[in-house]
Amino acid sequence: MQEELKSIAEKARLEINQAESAEALKAVQVRYLGKKGRITAVLRSMGSLPAAERPVVGKLANQIRDDLTAEIAKREDQLRDFARSRQMAAERLDVTMPGIPQPLGHLHPLTLVMDEIAEIFLGMGFNIAEGPEVETDYYNFEALNIPKDHPARDMQDSFYFGSEILLRTHTSPVQVHTMEKTAPNVPVRIIAPGKVYRRDDDATHSPMFHQVEGLAIDRNISLSDLKGTLLLFVRQMFGAHQQVRLRPSFFPFTEPSAEVDMSCVICAGKGCRVCKETGWLEILGAGMVHPRVLEMSGYDPEEYTGYAFGMGVERIAMLKYGIDDLRLFFKNDLRMLRQFY
Ligand SMILES: [Zn+2]
Repeated sequence: MQEELKSIAEKARLEINQAESAEALKAVQVRYLGKKGRITAVLRSMGSLPAAERPVVGKLANQIRDDLTAEIAKREDQLRDFARSRQMAAERLDVTMPGIPQPLGHLHPLTLVMDEIAEIFLGMGFNIAEGPEVETDYYNFEALNIPKDHPARDMQDSFYFGSEILLRTHTSPVQVHTMEKTAPNVPVRIIAPGKVYRRDDDATHSPMFHQVEGLAIDRNISLSDLKGTLLLFVRQMFGAHQQVRLRPSFFPFTEPSAEVDMSCVICAGKGCRVCKETGWLEILGAGMVHPRVLEMSGYDPEEYTGYAFGMGVERIAMLKYGIDDLRLFFKNDLRMLRQFY
């Protein structure tokens, strides 16, 4: 009986030390020391032993039970320590690991083009002027020689807040704000980039789009100054071989007025589908500042003359990058936007 107990104890010790988890250890404990465990069974069967042997076997069995209980507790501590050090190893900061890259954004293609336009005009001595996007009827229309009943208002249907306040339909009101500050005798050379709004929404129109306004006022400014300035701009923006031409047109706030074309960027002026075989692409509207506009803002039209132009930034960007649908700029599709840095 004693030999059997010793051999059971030996086997139990082996299993305790091989247990690799708290669950496995618990199973060993149940197997040997539980109610139906093997040591427990020996203790229970002592009644069948000769009376002389009972105290010796009982003492041994109790001793073994105590030893195994202590060893199970020790193994339990050991397993807990292992688990903790494994976790710490996993959490330790390894400074040699490559970092997690942070995706960096970049400027929108329209912002890039607007910045490029501004750079070119800053290089020619223009300053940047800004004005509010919420305008009064006076600055958006009246002061630009567009009275209430003028048909030009139909083409600039806008978003109104009541009858006198609206989202500006063009950047031209900045001309008026600027002239009011500089009149009657300070020369002006400004560009005004910014957002404008109209009630249009299709493949070539967006309810919000961008313009860059230009204004120069001084003594002796002529149409040739306007053409020279725009030629220089177009050549810096689209290439040194570009040409411009002025076609007669009408705007209420300039006289004379012109649509400005540049040589087609696709066919270099030979004629293609994009330029409708003309070799020219319209890029902006311009003209000499109407004497009435000068007068309303405080300049003497007998003494001062000036030119003004306004270009659509989306139009310039589409021609520069070969984009054929305006709406692509505003869909926020990263596959499109990532092409422009
Ligand atoms: Zn062409």
